Amino acid sequence: MKRYASLLALVLVFSMVVLAGCGTTPPAAEKPAEPEVKLPAQVQAIKDAGTLRVGVKADVPNFGLMDAATGEFKGMEIDLAKAIAKRIGLAEDKVKFEAVTAKTRGPLLDNGQIDLVIATFTIKPERKEQWNFSEPYYQDEVGLLVKKSSGITALAGLNGKTIGVAQGATSRDAVQVEADKAGIKVKFLEFATYPEINAALESGRVDAFSVDKSILSGYVTEGSVILPDGFSPQDYGIASKKGTDELTKYINDMLTEMDSNGEKATLLKKWGLN
Ligand code: GLU
Repeated sequence: MKRYASLLALVLVFSMVVLAGCGTTPPAAEKPAEPEVKLPAQVQAIKDAGTLRVGVKADVPNFGLMDAATGEFKGMEIDLAKAIAKRIGLAEDKVKFEAVTAKTRGPLLDNGQIDLVIATFTIKPERKEQWNFSEPYYQDEVGLLVKKSSGITALAGLNGKTIGVAQGATSRDAVQVEADKAGIKVKFLEFATYPEINAALESGRVDAFSVDKSILSGYVTEGSVILPDGFSPQDYGIASKKGTDELTKYINDMLTEMDSNGEKATLLKKWGLN
């Protein structure tokens, strides 16, 4: 009987131990670490550098315009650059904007001074051989700005006249194709910058100023007008150094997302571009 009692006690003690064990909360399971989004190496390199260096226009209203007083850049292309920085995990103020022209943007990419060009840069097959381009984010067409006093109302009125275009821009070829179609003869004068072409228009050195309409819109004055003709549609893309395919894909993914979630439409609306 005594043996039986001690056996019972043993069983009781054992069950208590087991029950007590069940009662204690198991050690908190290690929370699985949030899977860190691994950036492609070319994008990570920009993040590690701490700044995203972007070539933008300083004189194209609604795309890339620099406030001369504050040095601040504004426009749709500026917002695109900020969106890329945000996606990478860089703060807005870590985007370093560099004013570029049609002539300087390619060389600045080539010599590594900037990571991206978001500057009304038209995607063209021959340019794609030199630089990487994203999918298009905007389409514009080439136009002509003339003085109202010239009485010119259409491209046909430019027969025998001189047209000012920018070096390194697509405008000259585009106008030549249209002039050939219209059966007119035109001459060209090339300039390094748009303000120089505009000054030449003002002074009468050229009879028309030709470039994408978005760019022309920044130069319209009381005395000048953009002709209704528009030709040679231009797709704008975000350019980076040749071979930066991971970076281009990363940007393309962002553009696709911005298209489908409505962010792109909001951005265009914000800058009056839709
Ligand atoms: N979009 C045209 C080009 O890429 C016009 C020039 C410019 O963007 O300044 O050639």
